[in-house]
Formats: sequence, structure tokens, C-alpha cells
Amino acid sequence: MGREFSNWESGRWIGRTLEVKNGVCAVPEGHINGMPAGTGYTDEVKSATDHLYERVADFIPEFEWPAYAPLVHAINTLKRDKNAVILAHNYMTPDIFNLVGDYRGDSLGLAIEATKTDADMIIQAGVHFMAETSKILCPDKRVFIPSMRAGCSLASSITGKDVELIREHYPGIPVVTYVNTSADVKAGSDICCTSSNARAVVEHICAEWDVNRVIMLPDEYLARNVAKHTHVEVITWHGRCEVHARFSAQDIRDMRSANPGVVVLAHPECPPEVVEESDFTGSTQAMSDYVKDNQPGKVILLTECSMSDNVAGMNPGVDFVRPCNLCPHMKRITLGNIHECLRDETNEVLVDEATRVKARKAVMDMIDVKFDPEKAHFDPDAPEKDVKVI
Ligand code: SF4
Repeated sequence: MGREFSNWESGRWIGRTLEVKNGVCAVPEGHINGMPAGTGYTDEVKSATDHLYERVADFIPEFEWPAYAPLVHAINTLKRDKNAVILAHNYMTPDIFNLVGDYRGDSLGLAIEATKTDADMIIQAGVHFMAETSKILCPDKRVFIPSMRAGCSLASSITGKDVELIREHYPGIPVVTYVNTSADVKAGSDICCTSSNARAVVEHICAEWDVNRVIMLPDEYLARNVAKHTHVEVITWHGRCEVHARFSAQDIRDMRSANPGVVVLAHPECPPEVVEESDFTGSTQAMSDYVKDNQPGKVILLTECSMSDNVAGMNPGVDFVRPCNLCPHMKRITLGNIHECLRDETNEVLVDEATRVKARKAVMDMIDVKFDPEKAHFDPDAPEKDVKVI
């Protein structure tokens, strides 16, 4: 058993994150939600859950399974009784991702999937802006988040008021906002983008407005990486994802010398110097597809730890080297607080209607932009370009 990380919420212990054989996993604490570990592992629980163990066998030691199974059973029973679905982001720990998630993927993909279900309740196993996006797209459903403290360094770097002020300073320039932002910020934008379609969206909105400049908020590194691939002049904000901003070019050089022949995949929220040192850069979905389609012998995913764990689970023939940057916000979500949230219907996420309508337009306009996923990758050799940071 490896290093152990503590998860605390409002001064209350909510569980452990443990390094196990092939990655990290959130482990329910001994007594959670009135269910002491192991004691609820009845014959009924056993027959309802034991077939699920195989999905997490690489991450949860067998002796820990009786601590998980009662909680997994309780969550899956509540979901059925309340007609609820759980949207599990790629960065959720493998227990959540594999055992209770009904839909799995990136934030926008999850919200779009949610619009297609007839569920009454959505539990967002992700961070707060993702729950807001689900509410924006699914106003008729009740949306909950297991921890109101599951925030995001990038989303909290900018407010709706900031967007208003930027607009006043730069009239006539379209504002493109990354989906990793609050509802207020989306509502103040002309159109949203994801890391997959950012370049296509920037070029689309500039053609529509007949301008050659765009304001791209709030991720400075994503904006810099996009700027290198377009003729459009980019003005950006100083927001960072604290997980991806931490990787450096030197990290990659060190990892390559320790792992000859390794293929390095990066997310475009990483600094441009990291993209330049990587073999392939794309969104979380693009990275996952790359591994599935190319089956490299050995690979490094420069992104959140659990993403590597979850992609590794789907590609047993690929050897994963894990530099492992945990997102502390994502790790606030545990099986324990998912159960509590479903049972007590606490932490409902609401978005006022005027904001929701404007934010929905920005998201839907983005969805209407057609783009070729094959051209959504970032070329490591693309030349440097000046970007104004405000
Ligand atoms: S990984 Fe980065 S962008 Fe995603 S929630 Fe964590 S801090 Fe925010």
C-alpha cells in the first residue's frame, strides 16, 4: 500500500485517497453514513455487487471490497428508487467512475448525455461549474453536487463582472469562453469552446463578426496553444488549471530519460513549452482515443491522475507511467458524499433563469460549430505567437 492522502470537508473527515497497485483510489472511511466498513456486506449486498469488483480489481485490494460494496449497493438502489443518474467525470476515482457512474466522459459530453435521459435527478460527480452546465442544459431536472466545495482554480479565476469590464475595454471584439467557467461567465460570453473545438470556434466567431481579434477566457495556456494554430490575434486572461499548469518541459525530459521510447500525451491546458516537448496534445477525449487507437507500448498522460487510471482500465495492454497531479477539487467527491447527497437531496445546484438562458445560448452556439476532430490536435512544432494577457 502506498502514500495516503487526506480528504477533509468543513473540518470533517470524509475519507482517504490511497495509492494502490496501479494508481489512486478514494477509500471510504471506517464509519461513513452510519455504515461501518464491512458490517453491511450482507448476502444481499454480496450478490448485488460482487460482479462489479472485476471493474476495479486493479485499484481496490480485495480485502477492502467489503468496505465499498454496501455503499455501492446503497447508491445504486437509491438511483433506481429516485430515477437519478450519476454523471462521472473522467477525473473521478475509479470506484466512482466504474461502480456508480451512469455516464462517463468530459464535462460537456456528460451534460449533453444528461439531456437525453428521462431521469428526474442528476448527481454531478465532478466540480461545481460542471453541475451548473448540466442545469443550464437540463432545466427540467434537479441537479445536485455531492460537495459544494468542489470548485476549480480555473473557473474561480474570473467572474461575470470581470467579463463585463473586459467587454467595456474591448468593444467590438467577440468573447469566447472555455466551458470550465461559471454560469455567470458563460452568460457574459458570445460563445463557449472546449479544448477540442477552441480553434474552430475562434475562427468561426471572427468570420461571423468580420474581425481578426478575439478575447479568449480564462485559460492563458489554452489560449496561447490555440493562438499558435490560427491567424486570429488572441487576447486572454491569466487563469490557470492548477493541475495542468504544474507540468514542465523538464519533467518530460526527465520522464523520457527514465522511460526510453515512452509516448507523451499532454492536455492543452498545459504550458506551451510542455506541448512542444510532447508527442501529442489534445482534449481528454482525444488523449483517450489516441491510446485506444494506437495502443502504444508505454505512455504518459500529462493530466489528472484518475484520468490515467480510468484510461488504463480500458487499455490493459498499455503500460502507463503516471506522473500524477491530483485535482484537489475533484477529489472532494467520494462514494460517501455521493450517497449522502442522493439520500438527503442536499446541495442542489440552481442557476437563475436569465443567466441560464444566456449561458445556454453560448453553449448551444458552440455545439452548432462544425469542426474536424482530426484537426483539433496541437502541433508541437507550431511557431510561437504573441498573445496579450489582461
Ligand atoms: S483539473 Fe483543473 S480545470 Fe479541472 S477542475 Fe481541477 S483545477 Fe479545474
